[in-house]
Amino acid sequence: MTKKKFETNAIRTQLERSQHLEHSVPLYLTSSYVFEDAEDMRASFAEEKNRNVYSRYSNPNTSEFIEKVCQMEGAEAGFAFASGMAAVFSTFAALLESGDHVVSCKSIFGSTHSLFVNFFPKWNISTSYFNIDDVASIEKLITPKTKVLYAESPTNPAVDVLDLEVLGAIAKKHNLILIIDNCFASPYLQQPIKFGAHLVIHSGTKLMDGQGRVLAGITVGSADLIDKVYRFSRISGPALSPFNAWVLSKSLETLAVRVDRHCSNALQLAEYLENHPKVNWVKYPFLKSHPQHAIAIKQMKAGGCIVAFEVKGGLKAGQEFFDAIKLLSLSANLGDSRSIVTHPASTTHSKLTVEDRESVGITDGTVRVSVGLEHIDDIMADIQQALG
Ligand SMILES: *Cc1c(COP(=O)(O)O)cnc(C)c1O
Repeated sequence: MTKKKFETNAIRTQLERSQHLEHSVPLYLTSSYVFEDAEDMRASFAEEKNRNVYSRYSNPNTSEFIEKVCQMEGAEAGFAFASGMAAVFSTFAALLESGDHVVSCKSIFGSTHSLFVNFFPKWNISTSYFNIDDVASIEKLITPKTKVLYAESPTNPAVDVLDLEVLGAIAKKHNLILIIDNCFASPYLQQPIKFGAHLVIHSGTKLMDGQGRVLAGITVGSADLIDKVYRFSRISGPALSPFNAWVLSKSLETLAVRVDRHCSNALQLAEYLENHPKVNWVKYPFLKSHPQHAIAIKQMKAGGCIVAFEVKGGLKAGQEFFDAIKLLSLSANLGDSRSIVTHPASTTHSKLTVEDRESVGITDGTVRVSVGLEHIDDIMADIQQALG
């Protein structure tokens, strides 16, 4: 059979039907599975059979979710987690040894940064950071102990774009494991494995679910690395619940159409804000004015759902803007069908020092909009009236 397209793989999986011949994949709320006899029990536990034993290890709903994401990302295997951070932590815990070194970038998700700074030192794991605008400096940070190169693109909240091809080449040259958190792009817009990533991590909580209902995470990539992630996770227990996996498999069926609309709404809003007299600057990967526009169009299908901009007048003007918002939600989530406005300096990035915030492009007046699926005219009207 010919290779099917992204949208088809998001809908059609090979899961077997039960005796009821259901059309939609049913929900398997079961913690364990039964054995035919003593020999079946022995062989199943000895992993001589590829079958479900216990839902901490696998479940038909989590397997369906993993299969879909593997198809989307072009990955050999995966493991699904209860949250994006469970995926990040378990992936590192499975791969790293005491004494190892990680190279990453300060422009990463706040909780991932906290893991590096507040917890990794306890296990004798050190981290160095490169600057987003100086990818060449990565090579200077690499030591004989460096095992992982870890990055996100686009970044949160400044929507900077990192050249995945360059990261892939550096990882290859220095024999590092390249891990990309692909949450901001979603597998529909960008597939890092094509550019040399060994593992791709997602928070399923964001665009994958896209309707603000469940927490989830997933790591996909090469079979040998995923086997290590699986060995650690089946013992330590961060597995995704079957119910959340079932919700997510349904969500993925509409990922392409949803993300297309997120992106067209976001581009329209970004273009509108670029000409607004009360706005200092706007950043969106598919605007020509974006500093890494050429890289964005090379590696992404569209610009994503996040638009960042700065309101003129600093913190006070920023706060007035948030207080005047009527339709959009003031929340810290993103990738939801409901548009969300966030003030990174006082919320998601409040724990960083002012210098660290500025080094990752966050000023006191920076607003991050996660552009949702409401009609673009209504989204723009609310932002317009809030800007005054
Ligand atoms: C939200 C997010 C995470 C963490 O995911 P949770 O599901 O909230 O645990 C990790 N990386 C990025 C880029 C995120 O946006």
